[in-house]
Amino acid sequence: MKNRKKHAVGLLAMGRVPEMALKIVSAHIYGYLNLSTCCLPALALPQECLDKKRLQYDAARIIQYLEGQSFPGCSKIIGLVEGDLFLPIFTHVFGEAQQGGTHAVISLARLQYRENGCRSPDSEFYERTAKVALHELGHLFNLFHCDDSQCLMHFSGTIETLDAIALNYCPYCRSFFTDACRRKELISLIK
Ligand SMILES: [Zn+2]
Ligand SMILES: [Zn+2]
Repeated sequence: MKNRKKHAVGLLAMGRVPEMALKIVSAHIYGYLNLSTCCLPALALPQECLDKKRLQYDAARIIQYLEGQSFPGCSKIIGLVEGDLFLPIFTHVFGEAQQGGTHAVISLARLQYRENGCRSPDSEFYERTAKVALHELGHLFNLFHCDDSQCLMHFSGTIETLDAIALNYCPYCRSFFTDACRRKELISLIK
């Protein structure tokens, strides 16, 4: 059997996702959390997860779909989704994760536009992508939403609130994260 290198976080594109988005997320996960990542083969967006009335993808169903796939050698999985995501109680979500679990998804669809509908420069798009990915990764390590409006774990439902959040965890969330990584022995996966 081939000796597989172990990675803390596997990243994969679902649909047409710029390669740079995967690279930016990977660089931030390593840079902020010292966790290694790998890029997994891209998957097509499963059409059974598309709500034909809403013309959006059901985030929970995409996570279920990912659960049915095998990603050997990865402790956590984040899917970067081309399409817009929703949960039944929300008009849209930027991302969704299993609390304390393995799989998360983030949608790039709305991150490319400002609140007024104008297209954002790439720098804004990639910064938002990194924020949403680090937020959902926090949920995978069982971090909950944080009251600190500057913290990455603060809930954001709009581009405006997402832009207002700093690209960093507050000291409390950061130390919780480090402890969670140690408990899961991911510390051994740190490069
Ligand atoms: Zn959240
Ligand atoms: Zn926090």
